[in-house]
Amino acid sequence: MAAKAPNATPTIGIVSLGCPKALVDSERIVTKLRAQGYALSGDYAGADLVIVNTCGFLDTAKAESLEAIGEAIAENGKVVVTGCLGKEADLIRAAHPKVLAISGPHQYEEVVAAVHDHLPHTHDPKIDLVPEGGLRFTPRHYAYLKISEGCNNRCSFCIIPSIRGDLVSRPANAVLKEAEGLVNAGVKEILVISQDTSAYGVDIKYAASKLRDRTVRAKFYDLAKELGDLGVWVRMHYVYPYPHVDDVIALMAEGKILPYLDIPMQHASPRLLKAMKRPASQEKTLERIKKWRSICPDITIRSSFIVGFPGETEEDFETLLDFIEEAEIDRAGVFKYENVEGAPSRALGDQIDEDVKQERWERFMEVQQDLADARGQSMIGRTIDVIVDERDEETGEWLARSKADAPEIDGIVRVTGAPDAQEGDILAVEVLQAAGHELSARHS
Ligand code: SF4
Repeated sequence: MAAKAPNATPTIGIVSLGCPKALVDSERIVTKLRAQGYALSGDYAGADLVIVNTCGFLDTAKAESLEAIGEAIAENGKVVVTGCLGKEADLIRAAHPKVLAISGPHQYEEVVAAVHDHLPHTHDPKIDLVPEGGLRFTPRHYAYLKISEGCNNRCSFCIIPSIRGDLVSRPANAVLKEAEGLVNAGVKEILVISQDTSAYGVDIKYAASKLRDRTVRAKFYDLAKELGDLGVWVRMHYVYPYPHVDDVIALMAEGKILPYLDIPMQHASPRLLKAMKRPASQEKTLERIKKWRSICPDITIRSSFIVGFPGETEEDFETLLDFIEEAEIDRAGVFKYENVEGAPSRALGDQIDEDVKQERWERFMEVQQDLADARGQSMIGRTIDVIVDERDEETGEWLARSKADAPEIDGIVRVTGAPDAQEGDILAVEVLQAAGHELSARHS
């Protein structure tokens, strides 16, 4: 492609792939570069250089990342690659030798240094300013708050610890200052993320750090309580059913944080959980969930599951179906097992045929749909709080979410009767209709 004339202000584009954790990495990179005076372009043509933040969790994600790198090279020509796939630099270079630089996940400094090398910029303190809450890719009224990197678990199907390393928790004062900055910048909902939120602080022995005139501990409960005092919705993702989580459920019952837990359980058969090297067994999880529901009856439990893990028998699979019904899992994502390169489970015998995986996936979806329908029907006539996300330009309704719905992954509530509402407003609405995870409601 012909070399394009550079912009007066060096301008970068960014393609962000993968999970919310990768999105937070992208936000940090862009915040840093914007603070140094770089401009941001929403398309390839307007950028002098493009950063591709990749995902390498599954083979399909790797293929998607390689495709995105190829597209950025074809459309722009100057490309810096970072993120989880950056760990496999040889693979990237073999497919795309023109890539300028490659770094791994959360290597912000390396990415920024690569941009400096290939697109230099002179700092001007009069114009190089960023908003207090940094620059975010999520709508202004909600934001992800990353509390740690890495993971101490070693689930056999997962390559994240080999990519991101062991758990590294951020100090509590840094996390809380960032949360305060977000709230001051207008955020109404904070989504706490990490690889294992309930393990927060284990690596730093729950260290206390100074926040103005007091100290705060790097502990899941303490963090939840502090965040609960900020007066905004606080939603917890990636929590494991350890006993100390019970105390956090009490905060939900008090209304301090949202009665919502995202627990990636992956399976329910004790035999398979063992083969997966998961941290909890089925009986304990079921008991735990029942206990949580007795402490906080309104709690919504979201989880994700894998079908077709090597050695999964029909009996194992039925154990899983019984479990999601008995535990009344409110929101469930289900994935067909993928034999990811580098994952220990790849070496396991008794791999499951693709058509069996597909059939189990469909049966799981049917049970989950029935649960969703029953849950939706039980909501009719109830008055609930929703947070307004955006207007549906075609129907004029507001698209909102209840406390049971995380953005992107759960349901929505279509709201009428609120002509003056704005994005981020929290409204009380009466549920009129339900279709699975989608509710229709009226504000009056
Ligand atoms: S808990 Fe297991 S699946 Fe999750 S990041 Fe850690 S090793 Fe991977």
